[in-house]
Amino acid sequence: MIELKHLGKTYETSSGSVTALRDIDLTIQDGEIFGVIGLSGAGKSTLVRCINLLERPTQGEVWIDGQELTRLPQKQLLAMRRNIGMIFQGFNLLEQRTVLSNVAFPLMLAGEKKDKAQARAAELLGLVGLSDKARSYPSQLSGGQKQRVAIARALSTSPKYLLCDEATSALDPNTTRAILELLRQINRDLGVTIIIITHEMKVIDQICDRVAVIDHSSIAEEGKVSDVFTNP
Ligand code: ADP
Ligand code: ADP
Repeated sequence: MIELKHLGKTYETSSGSVTALRDIDLTIQDGEIFGVIGLSGAGKSTLVRCINLLERPTQGEVWIDGQELTRLPQKQLLAMRRNIGMIFQGFNLLEQRTVLSNVAFPLMLAGEKKDKAQARAAELLGLVGLSDKARSYPSQLSGGQKQRVAIARALSTSPKYLLCDEATSALDPNTTRAILELLRQINRDLGVTIIIITHEMKVIDQICDRVAVIDHSSIAEEGKVSDVFTNP
């Protein structure tokens, strides 16, 4: 379970301070697909980056499975991060490495032996339907294929949580549907809890169980998708 308690984030910049999040209270249950929707600049990216402490909150607490992350020593924080996969709008693949090597990379960083890491990577490429691309380079893939590689990489350390920051925003509608279907399958078959940040209602509609609406750094509404967005 992920619990954000009175979470706040203010960036200090040369031209003054910018409050990106204000008093966020949110609970995400194990096994759900939770959506966070809002306009550009609302604070979504900051919110998702605070969950794994890629961004340090300036107020409040982040609890994951009974541990408060802002107080964890660095070593335990790194271990906790392996339990939280992340995918991005821009895929963030290593262009000089093959697809297989990209997926194996987090395991190598975690100290896994090369042959074991590559065997696991090959298995995950099968899961995302890209076994035939193992020896290709990212530049040889379509956007949807790149995101599949990124999903396989995010799953390499067998995380319990998967954070998706505008993961389908660079993709066309058909590819978006296919990637969301893959995320749903990962949620259902592997039991991974998924948090989806998006500015697109159709993404929330297609796969989310619950949703929070972020508006100007605060949560404006939260609940089951069908309750928050009732069709007139
Ligand atoms: P969203 O993901 O909803 O577009 P963000 O979390 O990226 O929103 O941004 C929320 C606000 O915080 C915006 O005003 C943005 O300009 C500001 N912001 C985000 N990251 C930084 C940063 N590293 N430094 C300063 N301001 C930032
Ligand atoms: P998104 O809308 O997906 O959050 P942005 O273009 O707002 O993407 O932000 C891209 C990157 O730039 C992020 O790492 C964010 O933290 C940073 N950023 C956003 N706004 C600012 C800002 N006003 N000052 C400095 N960095 C920023």
